[in-house]
Amino acid sequence: MAEAYDAARMAENVAAIREKMAAAAKSAGRTPGDVLLCAVCKTRSCETVRESAALPVDLFGENHMQELVEHFDAGAFLQKPAHFIGHLQTNKVKKVVGRAAVIESVDSLRLLEAVDKEAEKQGLRQEILFELNVGGEVTKTGAAAEELWPLMERAAGLEHVFVRGLMAIPPAFDNSPESRRWFAMLRELSEQAAGRHYENARMDVLSMGMTDSYLAAIAEGATIVRVGTAIYGPRSYPNKTE
Ligand SMILES: *Cc1c(COP(=O)(O)O)cnc(C)c1O
Repeated sequence: MAEAYDAARMAENVAAIREKMAAAAKSAGRTPGDVLLCAVCKTRSCETVRESAALPVDLFGENHMQELVEHFDAGAFLQKPAHFIGHLQTNKVKKVVGRAAVIESVDSLRLLEAVDKEAEKQGLRQEILFELNVGGEVTKTGAAAEELWPLMERAAGLEHVFVRGLMAIPPAFDNSPESRRWFAMLRELSEQAAGRHYENARMDVLSMGMTDSYLAAIAEGATIVRVGTAIYGPRSYPNKTE
């Protein structure tokens, strides 16, 4: 597990982030309470996660099934919701459904159907986001933008999933105009999807923006920003965790 900042430093970080988030929301004419802070706790220990859960973060983001299980089963989130935001293989769906309040990274029909099937088995309805690869980068996960429509159509016919919106990791990692353009594209897709009134969907969640881009994302309508480094500090094996 990577070293992280101590509780006092994390508290300062979260306070500073919340201030910047509120200012970005206000200057975009939005209500600060409409943007949630997701603490991305990949590679962090249960103890660190528990300390951060006592801070004003709204939810947690987990990339790896094993870490989600470990943190969740240890009660480290202190009853706050955890979202799954990493690449999910269908053989790991069983452990994620039920633990993750929202699976943000559904990016194929096969995964969508596997999640629905497992949710049915567990007798629940799993909330999901569709992860889009808006930049079309081959190295990233996420469905191509045009795949959104078959995914929405399929989800409309499934009884154990409910679509809450979209997630993406766009190609630009900063608050530049280029970044904003990608975020705007995602928001437009979300609005289009809402306008088509699919069954079994309410497109009210837009999860976008990370440590170096969350201000641009809020300006373009993010309702969840996913922040890791700015809260916990650098990760010690970043190449393995993306
Ligand atoms: C790691 C990760 C983040 C957070 O990245 P930081 O730059 O550390 O804030 C957000 N979203 C996803 C999907 C990630 O994998």
